[in-house]
Amino acid sequence: MLPALAKKAASSGLSGAEFCIGIPGTVGGALQSNAGTTVNSDMSTIVEQITVLKNGEFRNYDHKDIIWGYRETSLKRSGNIVIEASFNLVNKSSDVINSDMRALLASRKATQPTAEPNAGSIFKNPEGDYAGRLIEAAGCKKLGTKNASVNQLHANFITHNGNASSDEIVYLITEIQQKVRASFGIELTPEIEWWGPEVQPRCFNN
Ligand SMILES: Cc1cc2nc3c(=O)[nH]c(=O)nc-3n(C[C@H](O)[C@H](O)[C@H](O)COP(=O)(O)OP(=O)(O)OC[C@H]3O[C@@H](n4cnc5c(N)ncnc54)[C@H](O)[C@@H]3O)c2cc1C
Repeated sequence: MLPALAKKAASSGLSGAEFCIGIPGTVGGALQSNAGTTVNSDMSTIVEQITVLKNGEFRNYDHKDIIWGYRETSLKRSGNIVIEASFNLVNKSSDVINSDMRALLASRKATQPTAEPNAGSIFKNPEGDYAGRLIEAAGCKKLGTKNASVNQLHANFITHNGNASSDEIVYLITEIQQKVRASFGIELTPEIEWWGPEVQPRCFNN
């Protein structure tokens, strides 16, 4: 898991993976989506080499062999399963790294709903703007269903009470997209993925 990677690097006096401390995902999942926080803090900034398994064969990719984008890579939806990775980290005092990570976690706690169930950011930030700002400005903070709602602390999160159905989440995503489109002419693209036997709902097609 990413927080374990961040802690292992910190205890070894290696800096670069601090941003991983608050992201609840596996290293493989994060590499295929180029998970991260700010522009210079994503997986593409630290990874050196990746070993993948595809069609029963192992392949090694250097950083330059992969196309990296905002929450996108050429590994995504390509059938490549990330098996192993090496990272390029720099020496730094463990105390400083741990202090920086505590600050990152405190900042996340102050700005995101860390105590209620959620799937992380629902939408990618459109170029030059923030999905959360647009959602709030479009008046979506009042949107909710029986078991789920647009989060009051950060509008790019949908939080729920543990009983929400996928229909409720799809309804909210669709409503948000419509309201932001009507207010600003901007199409919000989901950062989360649809997984299920049913046909992918239209709101995930952006
Ligand atoms: C509360 C919360 C906060 C979050 N904050 C952030 C954040 O700040 N920044 C950010 O970028 N993301 C954030 N996320 C999203 C997070 O990065 C992803 O949920 C996570 O990286 C997905 O990894 P996973 O291992 O959980 O994969 P899964 O959810 O199991 O799968 C997600 C996708 O990754 C693929 N995948 C998983 N493992 C591998 C592998 N080994 N090789 C190839 N493909 C694989 C799956 O096929 C699937 O398509 C947050 C999520 C939550 C719930």
